[in-house]
Amino acid sequence: MTWKSAAARRIKDLAAEDSVEAAVIEIGRRLTDGQALPPTNLHTIFPRLAIQDCYPDQQLRTAGELRKVVDGFEIAYCGTDSLARRRFTIAHEIAHAVFERTGPHCPRKGRELERICDMIAGEILVPYDSLNSLDGRRLDLDALSDLADTYQTSLTSMAIRCAKRFGMMAAQIEFGEVIWCVCPRAGGVVRPRTQIKRLASLCGERRAGEFRCTVELRRSQVVKTMQWTTIGCADRQLFIFCNAEEFAPSAAQPSSASSRSRRIAGRQELLAFS
Ligand SMILES: [Zn+2]
Repeated sequence: MTWKSAAARRIKDLAAEDSVEAAVIEIGRRLTDGQALPPTNLHTIFPRLAIQDCYPDQQLRTAGELRKVVDGFEIAYCGTDSLARRRFTIAHEIAHAVFERTGPHCPRKGRELERICDMIAGEILVPYDSLNSLDGRRLDLDALSDLADTYQTSLTSMAIRCAKRFGMMAAQIEFGEVIWCVCPRAGGVVRPRTQIKRLASLCGERRAGEFRCTVELRRSQVVKTMQWTTIGCADRQLFIFCNAEEFAPSAAQPSSASSRSRRIAGRQELLAFS
């Protein structure tokens, strides 16, 4: 994506990086430097940005807010949100505090600013470098769910982080429409949203499951294993697409925790239709 905003320029300058993506990683490194991860201890970051307090506010009409006080900032958040949601909100407000400390005329509005703050929040909660040890590991929904617990983040956030980091396909569908999808550029997936929508329509009413499918690339086709699970409400589903051989029944590892099987109920269903 081409970044055009003052917020994008400012974060690149702050990190001394040429791209927003690299700048976000660098800012995340600085903020979490010295921490034993995961999970990230957000309170450890507060003194670095003069954040004096962080508290729930039941009157809040948004998920969170950064408030200026005499000697720094305070973060207010919606106390009824889940732990993962609260942590993301606080991390997002930490990102706004990063901007506030970059000098006069700090950007305070704009789609790119909010997007960059979301990216920094993701980086704080699941630092890029901390994922290095997962390289080459099988990242199915069970594994992503365990990682989400370990990092105290949502399954969706973890799926997005790992999909981007390791070049997997992932998507979220609500009421039959693709809300977002992550596709590795190198793969050259043809019309990914259309393909994902078509494949998702084959899931029927099942809340979770997996099957093999064919994904059309620009010059070839590749067999993937599609896994899905329902998140939040019945009509919201998370999909991931992994290399099919990683999920061959003979390679399946026995689940070490019964809770995992419950979380991703139905993953034993294997329907070959490609
Ligand atoms: Zn914001």
